[in-house]
This record gives sequence, structure tokens and C-alpha cells, in this order.
Amino acid sequence: MKTVQLWVDGHDTAGRGEPIPVEDPATGEIFASCHSASACDVEDAVAVAQRAFKSGVWAKAPRETRATVLEKAAALLVEQLPTLIPLEVRQTGRAVREMNAQVPSLVRWFRYYAAVLRTEERPVLPTSGKLHNWIEREPLGVVVQITPFNHPLLIAVKKLAPALAAGNSVILKPSELTPLTSLLLGPILKKAGVPDGVFNVLPGLGPVTGKALVSHPLVRKVDVTGGTVAGRAIGTIVGANLARYTAELGGKAPLIIFKEANIDAAVNGITFGSFIASGQTCVAATRIIVHESVLSDLVSRLKQKCESIMRRMGSPTNPESSMGPLVSSRQLERVEALVEETRSSLESAQVICGGHRMSGLSPLDGTNLSRGYFYPPTAILLQNMGSSSERPALWTEEAFGPLIAIVAFATEDQAIQLANETDFGLGAGIWTNDLSQAFRVSGQVDSGIVWINTHHRNDPSSPWGGATSESGVGSENGLDAYHAYTTTKSIIINYASAEESLAYDDWFKEGAVNARYG
Ligand code: NAD
Repeated sequence: MKTVQLWVDGHDTAGRGEPIPVEDPATGEIFASCHSASACDVEDAVAVAQRAFKSGVWAKAPRETRATVLEKAAALLVEQLPTLIPLEVRQTGRAVREMNAQVPSLVRWFRYYAAVLRTEERPVLPTSGKLHNWIEREPLGVVVQITPFNHPLLIAVKKLAPALAAGNSVILKPSELTPLTSLLLGPILKKAGVPDGVFNVLPGLGPVTGKALVSHPLVRKVDVTGGTVAGRAIGTIVGANLARYTAELGGKAPLIIFKEANIDAAVNGITFGSFIASGQTCVAATRIIVHESVLSDLVSRLKQKCESIMRRMGSPTNPESSMGPLVSSRQLERVEALVEETRSSLESAQVICGGHRMSGLSPLDGTNLSRGYFYPPTAILLQNMGSSSERPALWTEEAFGPLIAIVAFATEDQAIQLANETDFGLGAGIWTNDLSQAFRVSGQVDSGIVWINTHHRNDPSSPWGGATSESGVGSENGLDAYHAYTTTKSIIINYASAEESLAYDDWFKEGAVNARYG
């Protein structure tokens, strides 16, 4: 069995914490053991990262140098795809078709932030007086990034690229479920030219390694993607340290399907939004709000599509496999419990497809589904839900599985009200060919991202973050993410002549009347 270590100061380093077994969710096999970082390892790594920061080797390197390194990292990542993709598939259980599409797209983040460095302008401000006032952006210091299991490389790179572009020293703590590919970023970034100590990877459990990292007083920013419970716990600690905080947390995305929508396109959008990553995404389209006049048509087409996906589920390594297993037995139990709770609490709930764990042999490739955590695409029609305080958990809680709830609406106002019935406000979708309706409704849905006639678009330039507290604080992507990894320095030069300064800049001159103040 493969054993991997921490990545600290530019090389593999033994961890002193409890080793973490890494499981293949498709087979239940433990196929790797990962060292984990103890509190002492955290202390050492923060010291290494702080030393690298203070040395200025990266923090004060010219922007041109940092941009070139990020571009090299993009090129080296492409070279490493044949190693990265299969490992990402094995540790997450996600179908190789998804990872073949997702992992190569990461280079866009390195290239985008390299381009930000190459094109960054420093504003000169209209400060009054004979003053030339401009803004410099400086790195923060040691920053900690904590990532979840569902898109290990994507989320790491989304955070790393702006943090490194800005000149920070980074410590990445990947999910304990999927730590392996993040560790491979160490040698890639080193080869690209990131100096030793500037990028470090410390796998470990959240409440042990994660907590020690976010509590460290030298850490100047924490950027986490994870569940709302973890986000709140971490935020409390980070707030007490007066460090900066970005948190990308949970979601419960609504999709409103108007009668004006193209129903086939909407069904494709629902299934993509709901079942990519087996529904284990923060923007998973989990609440489908459908106009009553198109409900039965949509439900029957959706059922066909779900059954087709289910027939094609097999080994995640099979390029024809449509959807992989859930990441763990815990996640599977959670999904099963939500479905049972819906069945028992709402008699009128109608399971349209799926609804039970998969077992036996896959019709696609004979994979023994009973060994893994396979759960089929599951759609449940919720009727007579009662008042908003009586909603089933399927409607209100993040499932993180291939589960969707469908409800009907009669009026646009009802649809908006149903969409906004959530404490999460991360992603939302609207399906309609009536553009004025699209504009009108998008303005009223409480969500950080609203997609119209599409779902789950993610571009390095486009902000990604929640609009309400349960979904997080701040956002990833774009200039905002880069700025959030910097602090501004306002530099003010007085270009008045010595004579002018002497005349007006002596506040305590005896008898002064025209002296400058402020
Ligand atoms: P999780 O909250 O269990 O863990 C996320 C990370 O936080 C892991 O690395 C974990 O070790 C760490 N962690 C947990 N508790 C911690 C603590 N007390 N102190 C420090 N670190 C701690 O989440 P998960 O199950 O890995 O991922 C699923 C969650 O992530 C979902 O809620 C999902 O919505 C969210 N997510 C959000 C986005 C987004 O962009 N908003 C994207 C992907 C996933």
C-alpha cells in the first residue's frame, strides 16, 4: 500500500499525527495511507512559511517573476494530468469522464492570475493638495487554505493561484478523505519555481490539524471551503485572531422551471446540476420548482433521463460510466436517512426514480456495486408540503448526494418565494426563454450566483460565493479573490516645493493662520 508524507519546505516530510487511511469509495478498499500533521508539525510548518515570507524571496519578487512561475505551473500541471486524473478518480470515486473534463481546466486559474499580475495597474487617487497618492497591494503573510473532498484539486487551485500571485506563503490542508492529489501539487509548484517554504501541504483531520492551523496567531488569512458547521467553527477562531476570512460553505440551490422554458434543455440542466459529482457539490440543483402546467411532462422526461444515468453507472474508471459512488459510508447513510425521513414524514411524497442504495452487478461493466457507496439519481415529488415551517428536511437541509426534490408552483411570486425559502444562498438557476422574466426573477432570487438557462458555470474571472451567511463569507475567483489575499498600502508623496511646504506645513508656527490641517 502506498504511503505518502506531508509536503513542507519543498520536500516530503514525515508527519507525527495519526496516519489517515485513504479509501476507494467504489470498492471500499483502503489503497493508501497518508501521514497527518500533529500540532507540532503545524507549528514547524507555520515557522517555515513565515520564514519564507519574511525572506521576501517570493513576497517581494517582481510581479513578472511570479506571473512566469504561475504560467509554468499551468504547463507542468498539463504534463502531470496522466498521474493526477486517475488518482483524483480513485480517491473521490468520481467518474473519470468528469475528471477528464475538470482537472485540465485548472490551468485557467494559474493563467488568469498570471495575467492579473501582468496587467495590474496601481490607482492614483484624487487626494487633494500637491500630493501623489497611489495604492500598492502587498501580500498578507502566511495564509491557510482548507479544502473539502468533492473537488480536491479544483478547489485547491482556485485558492492557491490568487494567494501565490499576491506573494503569500500558503499552507494547504486538504480533506482527510481525499488528501493525495493536493500533495502532488508540491513538486509541481517547486519545479515551476515556487521557492521552498512558500507552498506547503499538511493533511490531517479538521478538528486536529485544521484547528491548530487556523488558531495559529501568525496566520493572517484563512480560506475554507466546507460545510457550514466547519465554516462557523473556524470563523469564530479566525475572528478572535483578527485574521482575514473567506468561507465557501453549503448550498441548497433552487432551479425554477417556467412554462416558457425549453423543457428538454431544462431536464439536461437539472440532471447536470443535480448529478454531477453524484450530487456532492455546493451548487447541486436540489430544489426543482416547476410550473404546474409543465410538471407532468418534465417529470416523465426527467425519469427517463435518471433511468438512463442509472443504467450506465459502473466503475468510476470506465470512461462510459455516467456517475460514481458517494465518497463514504457516512455520506451514503446520510442520503439514505434523508430519503427515509421524506417517505415517513410526508405521505404524499412520490419517489419518481431511485430511492434505494444500489447493489449487485453494474449492467454497464459488471462492477460489484454492493462493495462501493453507489446511490442512483433520485427525484422525489413533494406535494402538499404544508406551511414553510413544516418543510421536510429534503427541502431544507444540504443532502450532498444525488437527491432532488420537485415542487409545483402556479405564479411567478410563488416560485420566487419557494426559491428563497432557504438559509443558503449560493447558486440558483432559472429556466425560461422569456428574457424579461429572466431579468426580473434573477434580481429577486437571494443567491450569490444565478444561472439562466445553464447551470454550474465556473470561470476564474467570475465571482463564486454565497449571498447569505449560511453559504459563507467573501468569494472565490476574479479580482476580488486576488485583492482579498492582499492588503493595501496607500503611499502619499508631497510634491510641493520646499518654499510652499514651509509656508503652509507648519501647524505650530507662532501666529499661523493658513497652516494646513489634515
Ligand atoms: P467538511 O466541512 O466536513 O470539511 C471541509 C474541510 O474542513 C476539511 O478539510 C475538514 O478537515 C476541515 N474541517 C472540518 N472541521 C474543521 C474544524 N473544526 N477546524 C478546521 N478545519 C475543519 O466538508 P466536506 O464534507 O469535505 O465538504 C462538503 C461541504 O463543502 C458541503 O457543505 C459543501 O456545500 C461545501 N462546499 C462548498 C463549496 C462552495 O464553493 N461554497 C464548494 C464545495 C463544497
